[in-house]
Amino acid sequence: MIDLRSDTVTQPCENMRKAMADAEVGDDVFGDDPTVNALQQKAAELTGHEAALFAPSGTQSNLLALLAHCQRGDEYIVGQDAHTYKYEGGGAAVLGSIQPQPIEFEQDGSLSLELVKRKIKPNDHHYARTRLLSIENTVSGKPLPMAYLSDARKFCDAHGLGLHLDGARVFNAAVHHQVSVKEITSEMDSVSICLSKGLGTPLGSVLCGSKAFIHEAHKWRKMLGGGMRQAGIVAAAGLYALENNIERLVEDHENAEFLAGELSSLAGIAVAGCATNMVFVNYHGTKPVSEFAEALYNQGVNICAGEQIRLVLHKDVTREDCVSVVEAIKNAL
Ligand SMILES: *Cc1c(COP(=O)(O)O)cnc(C)c1O
Repeated sequence: MIDLRSDTVTQPCENMRKAMADAEVGDDVFGDDPTVNALQQKAAELTGHEAALFAPSGTQSNLLALLAHCQRGDEYIVGQDAHTYKYEGGGAAVLGSIQPQPIEFEQDGSLSLELVKRKIKPNDHHYARTRLLSIENTVSGKPLPMAYLSDARKFCDAHGLGLHLDGARVFNAAVHHQVSVKEITSEMDSVSICLSKGLGTPLGSVLCGSKAFIHEAHKWRKMLGGGMRQAGIVAAAGLYALENNIERLVEDHENAEFLAGELSSLAGIAVAGCATNMVFVNYHGTKPVSEFAEALYNQGVNICAGEQIRLVLHKDVTREDCVSVVEAIKNAL
């Protein structure tokens, strides 16, 4: 099966499994797990931060950041379609009493700083206290422009806001811009990276920030049930991924471009966008899209059916697979 539903579907490779099997472990709640400690140190170094904390998921890692930045009754400004607002069960509001102020993304995935400025609440007893700007990179595969990052930093400094980056796919952004990930992440107050997307591990995210910030996040992680014991077994996969699976993301980007190019000439679907490892197509075929998806499935291609279809490239989809996908789509149409 060629699975294009997400880059979360990757299988750990032989070498990754070996690294996991051989990992030295300890009780991480005591801070004793050398592999977790090594992963956290490596993530901190890569992102240009003092400290880091391993979390079981990106949802938890983002929530830890929001809880560490904001108090009850504070507010964070965030994209209307951002993961930290829309796809995390309202955790900041439910568990942190933190009010979201969502605004629409711009075309390029940024949040207009002009618009953000208008949403900052005055220092007056009527309002929640605006504390944090939360941005995302990449957004639907789109890497934020590099210049935006320093603009956002300056803006947050000028307005006394913290700046959090949901960097679930920030390595795709770094590979796209041909910069080290640090150039994107070091100016943020905090960044959450996902190991389980394009980097190909079974699970895990890492939150990076200052020592004081990570100390605070650590307390929240325990409270949320994210304190894990011999977690080095999975941290070993993360270390392996950070050492071996970053540069290869370029192959996924090239495959996305190839696929978008091949699909652009077909009647019945229209390529709506292609950025880093994602291709978006609008389906206009004669049969219902669910039947189109079923016809693909029967040919060994798994997609999420919808008005707009997101095709995600990852390490378990080769160039030959892409050629097969194009054939399958032609047949299904
Ligand atoms: C996947 C993802 C997350 C974290 O998701 P988990 O499934 O909880 O690991 C956060 N932000 C973005 C943009 C994501 O794509």
